[in-house]
Amino acid sequence: MNKDIATPVRTRAILEKYGFSFKKSLGQNFLIDTNILRKIVDFADIGENTGAIEIGPGIGALTEQLARSSKKVVAFEIDQRLLPILSETLSPYPNVKIIHKDVLEANVREVMDEEFANLEDIMVVANLPYYVTTPIIMKLLEEQLPIRGIVVMLQKEVADRIAANPGTKDYGSLSIAVQYYTNAETVMIVPKTVFVPQPNVDSAVIRLTKREKPAVIVKDEVFFFQVTRAGFAQRRKTLLNNLTSQLPDGKQKKEEILAALAASGIDPSRRGETLSLEEFGRLSDELYPYFR
Ligand code: SAM
Repeated sequence: MNKDIATPVRTRAILEKYGFSFKKSLGQNFLIDTNILRKIVDFADIGENTGAIEIGPGIGALTEQLARSSKKVVAFEIDQRLLPILSETLSPYPNVKIIHKDVLEANVREVMDEEFANLEDIMVVANLPYYVTTPIIMKLLEEQLPIRGIVVMLQKEVADRIAANPGTKDYGSLSIAVQYYTNAETVMIVPKTVFVPQPNVDSAVIRLTKREKPAVIVKDEVFFFQVTRAGFAQRRKTLLNNLTSQLPDGKQKKEEILAALAASGIDPSRRGETLSLEEFGRLSDELYPYFR
């Protein structure tokens, strides 16, 4: 087997050979611990018939582990300076394809159709660039891509918000947006010491398993998310206050909002952070006729 990329010695040698300098603005914190990488691949349950999509391969530390376990890896990398490095470090793995693109601009569905034509099991696995974790996760979920799930390293604080339960300080519109599409669990807390350079914050690995259908079935998805965002607009305000101040013409429609709260069995003096997804679903369906 080839030598692992993700050791302090090999990583340093690769970076020195190419005179590579980290760009903080691109969230470049590379992993130098092979055990952590293997665990990430295990959490994603990657098998020989799995297609893996990676975001930000860096110098190929995780890509290599994915290449060894999966059928094929397609990795999106924004930083052109990494391309010659990757073509050397990943040369032993013919089942890797690097796409030089900002993943937020990429047509991921089209890439999947082209690259994974005969594969049914597809996972997104990444050590995400921390400056764009939420937009990347939301893009992958909102586009309803045919993936089994997402296993990613990200800031622990964001992992806590994603996996939070109602009634906790971390629960908010991000928890709802992600849990609407997936079952979310934090599977590992990761110390700063396994990265070069070390990030300023603690990290965690989160596993998002796509639900067969959304957690709640609502009349209008866009309106449902509008209601959840409104519900959390000012956390110390009551639900009634937030809904009247945030929904279009909410102040004039206070009576209708009260009627919808009553019909969904939700006390207007509750705070948004106490409502389950199911309660937000009921409430948005009752509100919908007044705002459509
Ligand atoms: N996978 C490598 C590892 O674990 O060592 C590197 C992870 S590093 C945290 C994030 C990587 O994402 C960097 O290689 C960075 O250049 C790349 N990146 C940053 N923004 C990106 C974007 N919008 N699209 C694709 N790649 C991006």
